[in-house]
Amino acid sequence: MFVIEYKVKGSQNQYRAIDSAIRTGQFVRNKALRLWMDAKKEDKISKYDLNKYCAVLAKEFDFAKKLNSTARQSSAERAWSAISRFYDNCKKQAIGKKGFPKFKKHSRSVEYKHSGWRLNPHTKKHITFTDKIGIGKLKLIGSRDIYFYQPEQIKRVRLLRRADGYYCQFSISIEVKEELKPANQNIGLDVGLKYFYADSNGNTAANPRFYRKSEKKLNRLNRRKSKKYRKGKKQSKNYHKARIRYALAHLKVSRQREEYAKKLARCVVTSNDVIAYEDLNVKGLVKNRKLSKSISDASWTQFRKWIEYFGFKFGKITVAVPPQYTSQDCPKCEARIKKSLSTRTHACKCGYVEDRDIAASINILKKGLSTVGHTGTQVWGDLPSGSVGGGKGGF
Ligand SMILES: [Zn+2]
Repeated sequence: MFVIEYKVKGSQNQYRAIDSAIRTGQFVRNKALRLWMDAKKEDKISKYDLNKYCAVLAKEFDFAKKLNSTARQSSAERAWSAISRFYDNCKKQAIGKKGFPKFKKHSRSVEYKHSGWRLNPHTKKHITFTDKIGIGKLKLIGSRDIYFYQPEQIKRVRLLRRADGYYCQFSISIEVKEELKPANQNIGLDVGLKYFYADSNGNTAANPRFYRKSEKKLNRLNRRKSKKYRKGKKQSKNYHKARIRYALAHLKVSRQREEYAKKLARCVVTSNDVIAYEDLNVKGLVKNRKLSKSISDASWTQFRKWIEYFGFKFGKITVAVPPQYTSQDCPKCEARIKKSLSTRTHACKCGYVEDRDIAASINILKKGLSTVGHTGTQVWGDLPSGSVGGGKGGF
């Protein structure tokens, strides 16, 4: 299982509805806990009893009925996971406090299972909550594409509140086909112009300039095609031949790129446990015409896609970190050393000297390791729903 997280955007009324869903979930959890507390030992209250109790609550309280039934159940499961943790501690005769379950006052999240929500297949960036709680359609903000996965792979949908707004997490199950031994090594990657990437171990991977190499050929083919173009007339057989030649040459280059990105990504993922890289807005960067050829050439987007793909496949952790200051800060003393794009070396007052891109990749790894557990992909595991997300700041 892993998690994809989006920030959500909606109206104030929708946010109030999310709050109300969270409150209702908390109510169900606490009521379920109360049922267990008030029961006698010989009643032998089980997880199953708490689940059944959700329906009773829905009958008794109109507002509880408004919340989707799977969300009510998840809430009861949270109560059960607190109870079973307590039982476990007693059984293990843990020293000190056994963690008797407490009532929650400040829940931050509510969790749906397979129903009560729907992804919009057309816009691909909206989720609609269909229960009576009134959240409705929310916009999903984030770069990950949830549509990469089949709907039945989405096991849980969680709404959570943080200090800076509301978030939606999808817990996705994928088959990890190959279990690898831990590599006991983490890596930060800085993708750039000079190299394809520089990593936090001080290595660099060369930049393949497929496009540049084949540029001449592509230009020639393009010229041939244009010469044969007849404005306002039916195009000749020769024009179509030239057009196809040109298209095929392009395709060849793009396949070369893809292969290179894939090969490199696989290698990086299999030899590391945590892979951190910058969350670059490549579209924004490519707008700069001067750089654009090298950047699309270096095929960062493809590289990232494959890193994440192999990350899932091999059960590794991949983290995209915000790119601010990664190329400015000193990895050793954290002083901020401003430099222009043409300054290739990081030289700090503390005596630390390193290639600019390698220094950046060390910063990226540091950032990545400090945010594992907050953003990006992390291992959710098959934990009971209550054991994550209830605490400070969600995760
Ligand atoms: Zn320094």
